[in-house]
Amino acid sequence: MSSATPTDADLDTLSLQLGRPVRDVVEIPARCRCGNPLVAATAPRLSNGIPFPTTFYLTHPTLTAAVSRLEAAGVMAQMSQRLQDDDALANSYRNAHQNYLTERERIREVAGLEPVWEIEGISAGGMPERVKCLHVLVGHSLAVGPGINPLGDEALELISEDWNQQMCTCATAWDHEAEVPTKDLSRHVRRLNQQKEDA
Ligand SMILES: [Zn+2]
Repeated sequence: MSSATPTDADLDTLSLQLGRPVRDVVEIPARCRCGNPLVAATAPRLSNGIPFPTTFYLTHPTLTAAVSRLEAAGVMAQMSQRLQDDDALANSYRNAHQNYLTERERIREVAGLEPVWEIEGISAGGMPERVKCLHVLVGHSLAVGPGINPLGDEALELISEDWNQQMCTCATAWDHEAEVPTKDLSRHVRRLNQQKEDA
């Protein structure tokens, strides 16, 4: 088992970080230097059948908050404009989009799923033409490493005073003593519906 494979403890940590039960997590593609998850990789089709294009999701509260502040500062509009003006940047951003799709295919195969035709060619975060969610781009950068997503890398650089790879804020970033949110209501509801159909 690679360290990318989520353990039960990882899944509990993700649920505490997000304050809700997580579902359909296939890998933990990036971890804090202490080992806690930073990013979750979710199956491209959820167990309730819904296609899910956002493969890489930031889960660490310190990181999520830092990226939210960057979004609030108007960085996405500036980046989108630069994609219009800078051909080299636009080109590497299109390559990042392709890499995202390739990575999602890999995650799909790890999850043992059939191709998800509904989201074929569709990545996330506004790629390949715009920037609509920096959390997506930063999640991608952390999952695949530097040099793939230029704007995710840039966002990480911009938040480096609030969060960087040398830092561990886990002790205070979420409530470790809280009850783990585990009620998977959607699955429960689905089972009830199934029973109704079977009846
Ligand atoms: Zn940590």
